[in-house]
Amino acid sequence: MLNIVLFGPPGAGKGTQSEKLIEKFQLIHLSTGDLLRSEIAQQTELGMQAKLLMDKGELVPDAVVIGMIRSKLEQNQEANGFIFDGFPRTAAQAEALDNLLSEKNTSINCMLALEVDNEELTKRLLLRGKDSGRADDQNEEIIRNRIKEYNNKTAPLKDFYSAQNKFHAVNGIGSIDEIFNALCTQISAVYQYN
Ligand code: ADP
Repeated sequence: MLNIVLFGPPGAGKGTQSEKLIEKFQLIHLSTGDLLRSEIAQQTELGMQAKLLMDKGELVPDAVVIGMIRSKLEQNQEANGFIFDGFPRTAAQAEALDNLLSEKNTSINCMLALEVDNEELTKRLLLRGKDSGRADDQNEEIIRNRIKEYNNKTAPLKDFYSAQNKFHAVNGIGSIDEIFNALCTQISAVYQYN
């Protein structure tokens, strides 16, 4: 199996690159942000609770996202592998993911981190907000809060994966194809493919 954690701040391009990677490597894309937005669209209780936090740019509780990932892993037992996008975002989530995968006798192959500076991120998110209609992309204060949450709670995961020799940084500024090629070069260093 090929299991990749795609890492990087909001607006780094994780969604765009995930789409290309799942096609090339035939992986299942697991985005906790997408899963939460789908719960909101269906107006579930979980979705309504999550929306209150997402609209402020805060993280939803670990137990909620871990539960969603657990059930997606169960539903896709035959998969070639997974791209985790927007998950894990905290140390507790990273530990839970390692445990869930080891129950399935597999593990994370690598964490690929897209690096983009704060100014560029804010610009991209405000631009995306015009098309996506996402409330959390339309307000500069909420964007700053998401970046702050990222720096406080998520950025430390770099050390978690570095300790396992799985952390690889990629420049997230450039054309979509340039960035995609750089990601594929990193993957080829840890995984054999044609
Ligand atoms: P972005 O990376 O652009 O912020 P996402 O779609 O990944 O977009 O996340 C949107 C929001 O969903 C986050 O700000 C957070 O509130 C919530 N969320 C998504 N994934 C997680 C997670 N793993 N843990 C906690 N909250 C999450």
